[in-house]
Amino acid sequence: MKKQIPALAALAESIGDPQVRNRGTIGGSIANNDPAADYPAGLLGLGATIKTDRREIAADAFFTGMFETALEDDEIVTSVSIPVPKKASYAKFPNPASRYAIVGVMVAQGPAGTRVAVTGAGPGVFRVAEMEKALESNFSANAIEGISVPASGLNADMHASADYRAHLVGVMARRAVTAAS
Ligand SMILES: Cc1cc2nc3c(=O)[nH]c(=O)nc-3n(C[C@H](O)[C@H](O)[C@H](O)COP(=O)(O)OP(=O)(O)OC[C@H]3O[C@@H](n4cnc5c(N)ncnc54)[C@H](O)[C@@H]3O)c2cc1C
Repeated sequence: MKKQIPALAALAESIGDPQVRNRGTIGGSIANNDPAADYPAGLLGLGATIKTDRREIAADAFFTGMFETALEDDEIVTSVSIPVPKKASYAKFPNPASRYAIVGVMVAQGPAGTRVAVTGAGPGVFRVAEMEKALESNFSANAIEGISVPASGLNADMHASADYRAHLVGVMARRAVTAAS
């Protein structure tokens, strides 16, 4: 993973602590679809396909809402397939205690197109179409400087308000683009 998609390796290294990383699985993380989990942003941002014991599901259709996925009750994730991007990076503002993402943004450009996927900010992982469009023609932090995500509907809790999370989406997206460039 480190050689082919270093951005995903870095994402994995940012999860929790060594104990959590050694016990947690990609299948468990994406099936659980915690709104602050990192792998959902990684797989959505990289345009992955989730393979189960009965079908293939594009990441775009897999993550359906807070702790909700397209999986049926007894359906098991058996593997994930990820196209190797030309450029990709994951930037995360972690909760200092759990390391879950207060906001995390995966940006990627490659065979799956130009993609920006956000975790932590909203009830579920989501893409930012306006940023993707701007980055398609100019993959630079400047290209998305003025683009913001509305705070309405974003998560708010003791760690961060919806306004702060909306602000972090822009900051993390620009950091990720700079790192990917
Ligand atoms: C202290 C702490 C800190 C954490 N920090 C982070 C963090 O920074 N970032 C982050 O992303 N996550 C974080 N996590 C979450 C962690 O990384 C795991 O993703 C999470 O705990 C799920 O664990 P698991 O993989 O063992 O799945 P399980 O707990 O075994 O399963 C979770 C759910 O998914 C289902 N499931 C499991 N595997 C499959 C499968 N193959 N197919 C279908 N359904 C399946 C189970 O039935 C269950 O409903 C943290 C967790 C803890 C406890």
